Amino acid sequence: MQRDSQIFDLIQKEHQRQLHGLELIASENFVSEQVMQAMGSVLTNKYAEGLPGKRYYGGCEVVDQAEQLAIDRAKELFKVEWVNVQPHSGAQANAAVMLAVLNPGDKILGFDLSHGGHLTHGSPVNFSGKLYQPVFYGVEPETGEIDFNKIREVAGREKPKLIICGASAYSRDWDYKALREAADAVGALLLADISHPAGLIATGLLNDPFEHCHIVTTTTHKTLRGPRGGMIMMRKDFENPFGLKTPKGEVRMMSSLLDGGVFPGTQGGPLEHVIAAKAVAFFEALSPSYKEYTQQVQKNAQMLAKGFVDRGYKLISGGTANHLMLIDLRSKDLTGKLAENTLIKADITINKNMVPFDDKSPFVTSGIRIGSAAVTTRGLKEQDMDRIVDYIDRVLMNHDNDTVITQTRNEINNWMEQFPLFSY
Ligand code: PLP
Repeated sequence: MQRDSQIFDLIQKEHQRQLHGLELIASENFVSEQVMQAMGSVLTNKYAEGLPGKRYYGGCEVVDQAEQLAIDRAKELFKVEWVNVQPHSGAQANAAVMLAVLNPGDKILGFDLSHGGHLTHGSPVNFSGKLYQPVFYGVEPETGEIDFNKIREVAGREKPKLIICGASAYSRDWDYKALREAADAVGALLLADISHPAGLIATGLLNDPFEHCHIVTTTTHKTLRGPRGGMIMMRKDFENPFGLKTPKGEVRMMSSLLDGGVFPGTQGGPLEHVIAAKAVAFFEALSPSYKEYTQQVQKNAQMLAKGFVDRGYKLISGGTANHLMLIDLRSKDLTGKLAENTLIKADITINKNMVPFDDKSPFVTSGIRIGSAAVTTRGLKEQDMDRIVDYIDRVLMNHDNDTVITQTRNEINNWMEQFPLFSY
């Protein structure tokens, strides 16, 4: 077979882009060589509908063991009783949960997308807002933080079937106990989507959602530093409180409903090569060096936040408790779009982001989101964070000066040579 040089040239180009630049997108990270190897392995050839030991295809003896390892390691990492490692992504994990525990038209209460929530938590352009009836809570204008008492009020008024907590751009921790009280008061289930801070939660650096939330979903590729994918977990399996039935009319334990929500509910065959890579990532996350990594992620985020505050930038909620921060650029007379487009010219990758009570569209936005997970994997420490903020500030304050931007890009490219990434 002729080699597809077009695609391999592009992969090479993307590798060079990742090597030369400063990666500050809060949802991204760099996987290890062994995670990459597992993903690019012969396991991609195997169909394995079903669960380990209960498949609809022959020849699954080996992938059964790989998937079981992923399950067992995830259980150990998050101290949970039940896991499904098959969701192809975070969005798929949330879709599977909602299919399993809701009926079309049921009310869901989620965190407003424009305040930091995720599309799959009820946005009208997403399945979650089209199939279910979404209502939202948000942050307080004065503090930029969630008032958990207000969620109780909204839940009492709206009586949702499902309350969703977790976010894509919220830099503070969550009061899962208060959320569970709000859910119990109206007979709702509580789902935590910990896609962003999963690694910090696994290593005990943030509040533990499993104590209080009925169901927890996550992506595996953000702070968890695994392959692109999703997963669903429960610390304790329980009988489904709404008496929801399987398509065959049976009332089952939640684990059984959730398994059915993934397959056959929303997916076909699991991606066994990705599941093997998830197992490798969990193996790495169970090592002591991973906790050092997540501690460094948190310290680096705090130093980045301090650097921005010192230079007069407005951070939503004034700082960060996790790996990310949301910056309102209105006081600097800049839009998120201009900032994103200018920073990329200096090989600094961030993303534009709506800020709470934004007066601009999602295509323009008033803010940017910045995260420390990827640069920390690269080996950057607290003392390097001020230098990053300095570069960002220099480029933003000179957004119409190509000489300054090019000079900064050269400095960054030279600096990054001191932090080689995996060779892959
Ligand atoms: N949930 C949250 C909170 C997220 O931030 C994201 C992704 O950014 C997702 C779900 C969706 O994950 P994926 O892109 O893997 O579908």
